[in-house]
Amino acid sequence: MIYLDNAATTFPKPDCVYRAVSECLRCFGANPGRAGHRLSAKAAERVYETREEIAAFFGGSPERTAFTLNCTHAINFALKGVLQKGDHVIISSLEHNAVLRPLEAMKEAGVITFDVARVVPQNEKATLENVRALLRPETRLLFVTHVSNVFGTVLPVEQLASFARSRGLLFGLDAAQSAGVFDISMEKLPVDLLCLPGHKGLFGPMGTGALLLSDRVSPRPLIEGGTGSFSLQHRQPDVLPDALESGTLNLPGICGLGAGLSFVRRVGTKAILQHETQLMRLLREDLSVIPGVERFGEAPETLLSFRIAGQPAEQTGSLLDRMGVAVRAGYHCAALAHTSFETTDTGTVRVSPSLFNTKNQIKNLSFSVNQIAMGKVL
Ligand code: PLP
Repeated sequence: MIYLDNAATTFPKPDCVYRAVSECLRCFGANPGRAGHRLSAKAAERVYETREEIAAFFGGSPERTAFTLNCTHAINFALKGVLQKGDHVIISSLEHNAVLRPLEAMKEAGVITFDVARVVPQNEKATLENVRALLRPETRLLFVTHVSNVFGTVLPVEQLASFARSRGLLFGLDAAQSAGVFDISMEKLPVDLLCLPGHKGLFGPMGTGALLLSDRVSPRPLIEGGTGSFSLQHRQPDVLPDALESGTLNLPGICGLGAGLSFVRRVGTKAILQHETQLMRLLREDLSVIPGVERFGEAPETLLSFRIAGQPAEQTGSLLDRMGVAVRAGYHCAALAHTSFETTDTGTVRVSPSLFNTKNQIKNLSFSVNQIAMGKVL
């Protein structure tokens, strides 16, 4: 099977990730920081090391880096933990439902209001202008995705972050599709809430993610409970990251994430981005000569959406599955993005490579799409 659904979760993982998870479960699978014994201390040490590595990689501080279960969890902490009654939020027209749905729920509960700024692909000025036009005195947060998970559009995050800072807004970034592939440093980019999945571009196992905070923001916890610290205190501690990490952490996942991150550091984000971009360029060229294939997005670098005329995307996806290619087809948990690109009727077939995919695999995919488009596979 050729796996090209890495935007959902990367597969396979580097060998070091499998080894780290296995070593943790076999050798020191104790509850981190909850007891005085050596195994618990070793587990806690690994958690701390990984926290430090993530913080260093993204230019944040370890004390302000909280582990989460995935990117959705990090985004929920960021939005629901920070926003207060009467706040107004601006998001982009390419947001994932992980951003849209918590905001919609808060809006329905009468807590906040929000507006959607249209992203104009490859036109940073126009995108920024659309954001500026929505600014209100009560706007508190600008929250955007770095890269669209449906169309691969890269948002002008530097300009948006600087704009937010200049207007005194908080800036939140959904780095689900960029962490581990694009360079992101909180030292250079004024981001206050950086939401990451551990299981995509950082090559950790599923069930991992992180929320990195600037020193301008300390979200309220959404879940209270044992933190392994301040144990006689009745109230949830305020101290970060403990305040956001109640309950037993996903230790095997965190060990795997640490290994995945070291792998990314060894290879380098530049090389990873270059590899994915090369594969997507090749696919764009190949698809451009197949009659009836419509491609979306302006020169996306890391993933590509297309559809075949007269065929729902899900059908194309099932035919590709039968031919040995795994892609995601249909709707991609991003209602706003599908509306923006007018694909709510058919959905799209999304191809998302990782470092482990090859040019031959892309050629194989193009050949299969060609067969389907010519009606040779039913
Ligand atoms: N945001 C974007 C842009 C995504 O693509 C995804 C998942 O694909 C998410 C958020 C949610 O990530 P997770 O599956 O880690 O919760």
